[in-house]
Amino acid sequence: MKWKSHTAIARAIAAEMNLPDELERAFCAGSIEPDKRPDLAYRVSKGGRAYVGRAPHHMPSTGTIMAYAWRARKAYLAGNDYWAIKSLGRGLHYVQDKCVHTGFRGWKHDARESDIADIAPPRRAVREGIEMAKCSPRFVRDCITAVRPRKDPRKAMYDATMFSSAIFASVIGPVDAEERFSAEYERAIKGHRCRYAAAGAMLAVSGAAAYAIEEPLLLLPGALAAVAAVRINPAFYRAMDEAEWFGLEPKARRGSSGP
Ligand SMILES: [Zn+2]
Repeated sequence: MKWKSHTAIARAIAAEMNLPDELERAFCAGSIEPDKRPDLAYRVSKGGRAYVGRAPHHMPSTGTIMAYAWRARKAYLAGNDYWAIKSLGRGLHYVQDKCVHTGFRGWKHDARESDIADIAPPRRAVREGIEMAKCSPRFVRDCITAVRPRKDPRKAMYDATMFSSAIFASVIGPVDAEERFSAEYERAIKGHRCRYAAAGAMLAVSGAAAYAIEEPLLLLPGALAAVAAVRINPAFYRAMDEAEWFGLEPKARRGSSGP
């Protein structure tokens, strides 16, 4: 996608979420940054040799995008909104590029991106994305894997806007687990408002307690031993991810979220 399209999507989301100007600028800057300062990734050449090269944009790995989502989420929990939104913009760049079908060997790439550049991000797509958002790492991952390359420029723009908005609202969502279920959050997200007031707030003890009712294992002092005991239980891993999304989990992750 062209920079014009990436920044148009960022602006459309920023407007709907009432982001302050400074954060809108951070969002736009992050959204085009992977083209200026590429991420590196292990790749395999035609001859079968592994090398370190530019991370692919049109077929990005889910891990690359998730790493940015986690970075953004952690910065957001720590109250660093600027860094959160810039990192998120960077991750969403890949989601948006992934929506574009580049044709056989990329022959249609340039023409299609020019067509997309003439289309404005539809407001309906922004709202649809925000409304479907759930504040959860699993939701973000599901969004990323659901993205398909589109040949029709309008569909590519629609999907890019909708998935970007959904992931944005998921990452910049409530900051503690209790809030996730609160009616107030429901109202906030329905009214397309961002929870800025909550950014930087310390995790409420009640939030931890609310989560623990759902996942009592997290209360055990020997959480690490518990992880080993239930290693084969994907539901437990998911719960650990969810807990970390709200800053509740110590250091028992298996390193899948690292950059
Ligand atoms: Zn790109």
